[in-house]
Amino acid sequence: MDFNLPPESDPRRVEIRTFFEANPRPTGRQLAERGYTVPHWPRPWGLGADPELQLIIDEEFEHAGLQAPARLNPVALNNCAQSLLTHGTDAQRERLLPPALAMEEKWCMLFSEPSAGSDLGALRLTARREGDHYVVRGQKIWTSLAHKAQIGVLVARTNTNVPKHAGLSQFLIDISSPGISVRPIIDMTGNENEYNEVFFDDVKVPADRLLGKEGDGWALTMAQLQTERVALSKAGAIWGSGPSARDLVSELIASGGIDDPLIRDEAAKLYIEGEIMRLLAYRSLSDRMNAKPAGPEAAVRKMVAAPHGQRIVDLAKRVQGMSGLITGNGAFEPTNGGRHMFDDWDYAYWFNPAVTLGVGTQEVLKNVISERVLGLPREADPTAKTPWAELQKSKLKTAV
Ligand SMILES: Cc1cc2nc3c(=O)[nH]c(=O)nc-3n(C[C@H](O)[C@H](O)[C@H](O)COP(=O)(O)OP(=O)(O)OC[C@H]3O[C@@H](n4cnc5c(N)ncnc54)[C@H](O)[C@@H]3O)c2cc1C
Repeated sequence: MDFNLPPESDPRRVEIRTFFEANPRPTGRQLAERGYTVPHWPRPWGLGADPELQLIIDEEFEHAGLQAPARLNPVALNNCAQSLLTHGTDAQRERLLPPALAMEEKWCMLFSEPSAGSDLGALRLTARREGDHYVVRGQKIWTSLAHKAQIGVLVARTNTNVPKHAGLSQFLIDISSPGISVRPIIDMTGNENEYNEVFFDDVKVPADRLLGKEGDGWALTMAQLQTERVALSKAGAIWGSGPSARDLVSELIASGGIDDPLIRDEAAKLYIEGEIMRLLAYRSLSDRMNAKPAGPEAAVRKMVAAPHGQRIVDLAKRVQGMSGLITGNGAFEPTNGGRHMFDDWDYAYWFNPAVTLGVGTQEVLKNVISERVLGLPREADPTAKTPWAELQKSKLKTAV
C-alpha cells in the first residue's frame, strides 16, 4: 500500500462537510448537481475526481449518515449508466442521465432468462426491427428492482443468423411500456419484492433506445457485469451491505459468546479474513491512486468476499442455538441503527445463499479467473461459431 489517507483538514473534505452540514437531507438532484453522485465521471455529470477525492466523498457520505447514491440506484450508478456515457447518443444522455443521477428514475437489469443465466449467450428473448421501432417478445427472470424501476437495461436477440454472441443488442426501455408485465417472486427472506419475472408481449421499443449499434449487446453486457462484480466485492454480509466480521466480533464480545473457545477460534479466523479483504481493497485503491492498471484483485475479491459474508451470518445464527431457527429472530440487534433491511442479521441469514449466485456464480467466477487472470486454456464451446438459427434447428432435431 503506497498512499496516505486524506486528513480531516483537507480543504476538499471541509467543503463537502460544510455542504452536508447545511443540507443534512439533500435531494438526489442536489447531489447530482454538485457532482457527488458520480464524482469520478467527467463534468458536467461528475467532477472528474481522482481516486483520493472519490474516497473523501465516500467518507463524507458516511460521516453525514447518508446512504451512498450507488446504493439507491445501483443498476444505473454502479453498472450501466457509464455505458450510456461512452456509447449513447447525445439525445439518450440528455433524456436518461439527469433523472438517473438524481435518483428520480430507478433502473433495473433485464439480462437473465429461465434458460440463460450464467450463459447469457443462450438468451431467447427477441427484438425484431419494424420501421422506427423494435417489437420485443419473451421473458426475463430474477430481475431485481423491476417493480420499482422506470428504466430497464434489456439484452435481446436482434439477429438469429449470426453466432449466439454476435446477435445480441442492448436497449434502454421504459418499464411502463404497454405489453410489459412484472410479477414478483417471493423468496425465503419473506421479502416478496427482491426479484421479479418480467414478461414482454410484443412490446414496442423506439429504435432510438438502442444502445450503441445492433450486435454490441454482448460486449456492453460483459463490461457492465464486470463493474457490478467490483461493486459487490466488499467484505461483509450481503456483498458488504450487511454486518461485517468486525460487527460480529463486537457482538460476540458484548453477548459473551466469545467465551466459548470454538466460537472464539472461528470468529478470529473470520476477523482475519475481513482484515485481509480490507487491505486488498486498499491495495486496489493504492493502484488506482498511483495510476497502475486494475489488477486481478477485484475478480478474486468478489470470489472470496461472498463466502466470507456467508460465514459471518452463519456463525452469528449458530451462536443463538435453537432459537435461531425461528425466522425474524435476529442473532443480535440490527447494526447501523437498523436503517436498512440489510442491517438485520436475520434477513442477512436468509438472503445468504443468493450471494454466491448473483452476478456470476462461484464456478463461473473461477472460470473467469482461470482463463483471464491465470491464462489457463479457455473452456471449449463447440457452438460459439454456429449461427443461432442453425443451433436451434439442430436442437429441435435432437429433441425429435
Ligand atoms: C440476489 C440476486 C439478484 C439477481 N439480480 C438479477 C438482476 O437484477 N437481473 C438479472 O438479469 N439477473 C439477476 N440475477 C440472476 C443471476 O444473474 C443468475 O442467477 C446467475 O447468473 C446464475 O444463473 P442461473 O440462476 O440461471 O444458474 P445457471 O447458470 O443455470 O447455473 C446453475 C449451476 O451451474 C453452474 N454452472 C453454470 N455454467 C457453468 C460453467 N460454465 N462451468 C461451471 N459451472 C457452471 C453454476 O455455477 C450453478 O451452480 C440475480 C440473482 C441473484 C441471486
